Amino acid sequence: MDLFEYQAKELFAEYGVPVPQGKVASTAAEARAIAEEFAAAGKSRVVVKAQVKTGGRGKAGGVKVADDAEDAQAKAEQILGMDIKGHTVHRVLIEEASEIEEEYYFSFLLDRANRTFLSICSAEGGVEIEEVAETNPDAVAQISIDALQGAPADVAAKIVESGKLPAAAAEGAAEVVTKLWDAFVGKDATLAEVNPLILTKDGRVVALDGKVTLDENAGFRQDLDSLAASEEGDPLEVAAKAKGLNYVKLEGQVGIIGNGAGLVMSTLDVVAYAGEKHGGVAPANFLDIGGGASAEVMANGLEIILGDADVKSVFVNVFGGITACDAVANGIVQALEMLEERGDDVSKPLVVRLDGNNAELGREILSKRAHPAVRQVDTMDGAAAQAAELAAK
Ligand code: GDP
Ligand code: MN
Repeated sequence: MDLFEYQAKELFAEYGVPVPQGKVASTAAEARAIAEEFAAAGKSRVVVKAQVKTGGRGKAGGVKVADDAEDAQAKAEQILGMDIKGHTVHRVLIEEASEIEEEYYFSFLLDRANRTFLSICSAEGGVEIEEVAETNPDAVAQISIDALQGAPADVAAKIVESGKLPAAAAEGAAEVVTKLWDAFVGKDATLAEVNPLILTKDGRVVALDGKVTLDENAGFRQDLDSLAASEEGDPLEVAAKAKGLNYVKLEGQVGIIGNGAGLVMSTLDVVAYAGEKHGGVAPANFLDIGGGASAEVMANGLEIILGDADVKSVFVNVFGGITACDAVANGIVQALEMLEERGDDVSKPLVVRLDGNNAELGREILSKRAHPAVRQVDTMDGAAAQAAELAAK
């Protein structure tokens, strides 16, 4: 999981890595209020930084220095709503401006190819490190880290020296390296990048930017949920994530539920193909409810899909395996009852295709229940055609 810059910096600060003071704003008025707080503390110059999970924000115009609170408001206005490489800016970080003497590069990362951790250090920071590595490879030091030893003072000093950081920054940078390793291990990160790591005019070494990726496999011992809660994104996707569903919002009108990622992917294809005959009707989402397909998961999935105003029909495409079709059919019936009890509207047409293990039994269960929203089609293509046609009405 990637963090926003402001989250990365909060994490750095927790481990004692020096970062500029800052606060997040989601409106220009909020940005102004934060800048006014800084001004009252004698720091009227602030930086307004787009919070999106992509690099190159500076180049794209998403990082701007403001002279005072009014200016900060104007710059926040410009940056909020901006599109940076496909990411819409919903929030800006307002930070006390730093007086930069020099910009360096430092990162720790998991080096899968060499089955180790790697530190990368360079006196040429602020720019894309890949470019420096290409044009001036000697300027980029790559030093592997022994996971058991980590980056104590002597190792950190060596890294900083190899990166050719000047004497004025060496001590401060080495301290950052050691603390950053603690953060990297403590939070189960696979990447912690500081670009630029700066030397300020008054001689301090500060992390001016932060890019952190945390290992989701460590979720059982890390509080990833609170970090993900501030995730930007489609409200339906956020709701689906909270329910633990594998859901991606798409732009069409046919809601899709299937079991197994491969089946769902091919369902998207057949629906898009069938939709061509109906003025370009297309899938509204990807949703894989997995092998289990219990009534509760089915209900949660249906709830998300039926709550999508774009959805005009739903295609439930299930291939019975270990969880046989009769169990899935019961799941669908119970899911519809659950939703009706909750007071949800379940009148959108549901085209169900059951095949595989115990398909006949499953179809019988649905026929007996005869829910007005449900119709059954035995083939995938046939069901896709009907779902597309219903969505086009
Ligand atoms: P990125 O472009 O997404 O990597 O965003 P950065 O946070 O790295 O900012 C880009 C550039 O903006 C940095 O390399 C700095 O040159 C500049 N910058 C960022 N913060 C400040 C600041 O406080 N003062 C000054 N003078 N420049 C800054
Ligand atoms: Mn940067």
